[in-house]
Amino acid sequence: MDLLQELVEQALQKVAQAATLVELEQLRVQYLGKKSQFSELMKGLGTLDPKERPQAGARIHAAREALQEQLNAKFLQVERQARDRQLAAEVVDVTLPGRKEPRGTLHPVRRVLNRIQLMFQQAGFAVVDGPEIEDDFHNFEALNIPEQHPARAMHDTFYFDAHTLLRTHTSPVQIRTMEQGKPPFRIICPGRVYRCDSDMTHSPMFHQVEGLLVDEGINFADLKGLVADFLVRYFEQEVAVRFRPSYFPFTEPSAEIDVQCVHCAGSGCRVCKQTGWLEIGGCGLVHPSVLQHGGVDSRQWTGLAFGMGVERLAMLSYGVQDLRLFFENDVRFLRQFA
Ligand SMILES: [Zn+2]
Repeated sequence: MDLLQELVEQALQKVAQAATLVELEQLRVQYLGKKSQFSELMKGLGTLDPKERPQAGARIHAAREALQEQLNAKFLQVERQARDRQLAAEVVDVTLPGRKEPRGTLHPVRRVLNRIQLMFQQAGFAVVDGPEIEDDFHNFEALNIPEQHPARAMHDTFYFDAHTLLRTHTSPVQIRTMEQGKPPFRIICPGRVYRCDSDMTHSPMFHQVEGLLVDEGINFADLKGLVADFLVRYFEQEVAVRFRPSYFPFTEPSAEIDVQCVHCAGSGCRVCKQTGWLEIGGCGLVHPSVLQHGGVDSRQWTGLAFGMGVERLAMLSYGVQDLRLFFENDVRFLRQFA
């Protein structure tokens, strides 16, 4: 009976100290399980005097009941504490300010393209698309650049094989448009073009926007008016525009388009290399044989065409000095155009 007393005290103390459900379960097995010391004591009853047995049995039984009760109570307590801790940890403070999602921005080249497209759409031009993987005919031959023509050397072309290449300009879309439709045409074709060239002002991939207008009686005055009007609207100021005689195989006559430097108003600065003028692109009246290649009767129809580098326009609009910044995708740079 002394042993029983000792056992009960020891067990109750351990139950009181237990802090987790696992510990409590271990104590239950240890003191109340089949192989526990209580079970051993019960087995020992057989060795007692028969008169003492009922009383001893009742005491052991009562002690077991008491311990079981304590275990149950402690079990509930620990369970409640665990739940309270979990609820406290999961509490949502509805007064905290919300976490903002960072907002993306349009790429500066895309912004410039969108503006250019909108301006020409408002003037009645349709926006058309063409393949970036072109054949030799559409990229060169039909544009009056036959094999062995020296102008091919200026294009630094990426070839897949003798007949397939990455388009070096958006001009093949002119031919495809003429092949597929009937004049008059009034289109612009914005898109990616590729040349094997890379430095501060050249990238192997860049964007051009090409314009083509074919109708009856189109002349150089129409071309000049259209381009000058666009540049004034694009730069949002009265800029002087200059046409310099030039040569392109697909236009005749041909001209380079210069705009008065928008940074120094023509007095000379670093951006315009002290010349007061900025090169914007090329233009001209569509060469009759280019019209013929597109299936258009050059005796009835005449056309004008122009092409501009989109990155060039973006650099001038935003004062960006290095073209490569547009393609490095550094968000610190891109975020500035929000
Ligand atoms: Zn300047």
